[in-house]
Amino acid sequence: MTKKVLVLGEVREGTLRNVSFEAIAAAKTIAGDGEVVGVLIGDAVEILSSELIQYGADRIVTVEHPHLKQYTSDGFSQAFKAVADAENPDAIVFGHTAMGKDLSPKIASKLQSGLISDVTAIEGEGDDALFIRPIYSGKAFEKVKVKEGIVFITIRPNNIAPLEKDESRSGEVSSQSVEITNLRTVIKEVVRKAAEGVDLSEAKVVVSGGRGVKSAEGFTPLQELANLLGGAVGASRGACDADYCDYSLQIGQTGKVVTPDLYIACGISGAIQHLAGMSNSKIIVAINKDPEANIFKVADYGIVGDLFEVVPMLIEEFKSVAVKS
Ligand code: FAD
Repeated sequence: MTKKVLVLGEVREGTLRNVSFEAIAAAKTIAGDGEVVGVLIGDAVEILSSELIQYGADRIVTVEHPHLKQYTSDGFSQAFKAVADAENPDAIVFGHTAMGKDLSPKIASKLQSGLISDVTAIEGEGDDALFIRPIYSGKAFEKVKVKEGIVFITIRPNNIAPLEKDESRSGEVSSQSVEITNLRTVIKEVVRKAAEGVDLSEAKVVVSGGRGVKSAEGFTPLQELANLLGGAVGASRGACDADYCDYSLQIGQTGKVVTPDLYIACGISGAIQHLAGMSNSKIIVAINKDPEANIFKVADYGIVGDLFEVVPMLIEEFKSVAVKS
C-alpha cells in the first residue's frame, strides 16, 4: 500500500527551520515509494512551499488564518488536525523542538495514535522502519516499531541529514480552510531574548562554558571562538546558576538537548544532568584543569589545562587556519 506521510514545516520569523528539512528526509524513509506532504501553518506561509518541495516534499497543504500568526497549541492543533482528517495519513513527522514537543502529544491524543518522540535515527524503511530514541537521559537507546495505527514521530534536530536541495523540483500547493475557534490564549507580544547569531539547538558547533569560566566576562573568549567557528555558545547549569549567562543557554536534562558536529566544553565538570543534553554530539572536546573530571569520560579529545590559556590559543590557531585557507 502506498504510504502518505505528513510533515509539519516549522516556521520562525518567516523562515523554515532546518529541522523541517530533516523531517522531510525522515518522512521519505517512512514513505518509501509513497507521498510526503508538507503542512505549513501560519498567516502568510504559502511563500515557503517551494523551499519545502525543493527539500523533498511532494505536495504542500497550507492553512492560513489571522489567528495562526503566532503559535498557540489551541490554534495550531485545530489547523493540523483539520489537515490530518482530510489527508488521512499513515505517518506524521514533527521536529522535536519546543513547538513539536508542545503540539505532538495534543495531536496524537486527538488522532488516538501513539507517539514516538525524540527520534535520533531510523533503521530500515517503509513498514520495516525502526525508530531509535534515547532513554534514561541518553544513557541507552531503544528501537521502536509501530505495529498498527498512525506512525507519529518527532525527530531530534541535527541528527537526520536533510536531502540535498533540488531547485528543479515542483509540486502541487493547496490550501485548507479551517475555522479557528475557542482560543484560550492570545499572544499579545513576543519579547525575544537578544540571541545573536546561530540558534543553539540547530548549531553545528557549540562552545559551552561552565562554572570554571568564573564570570560573565569569562564567556567573551568562548563567544569569540563560537563566532569564529560559525557556532553558538551554550552553558552548564552551574554557569547559569552563578549568573554568568542566561538560562536560555543551559544545556542538559533541564535545559536544551543539542547534538552538534562539534561540542567544546570549557570548565564543565560533566555532571550526569549536563551529559544528558550533549553526550550525543558527534565530536566532544573537553577543556578542564582537573584530569579526573567526569567530562573526559565522554570526550573524544581532552585538553587538561586552564581554559583561559587554551581557548585563546584555539582562537589564534583557528584564525591562522582561516587566513591560510
Ligand atoms: P562544576 O561542577 O563546579 O565544574 C566546574 C569545572 O570547571 C570543574 O571540573 C573544574 O575542574 C573546572 N575548572 C575550573 N576552573 C577552570 C579553568 N580555569 N580551566 C579549566 N577548567 C576549570 N546541570 C546542567 O549543566 N544542565 C542541566 O540541565 C542540569 N539539570 C539538573 C537537574 C537537576 C534535577 C539537578 C539536581 C541538577 C542539574 N544540573 C544540571 C546541575 C548539575 O548536577 C551540576 O551541578 C552542573 O552541571 C555543574 O556545572 P559545572 O560543570 O559548570 O560546574
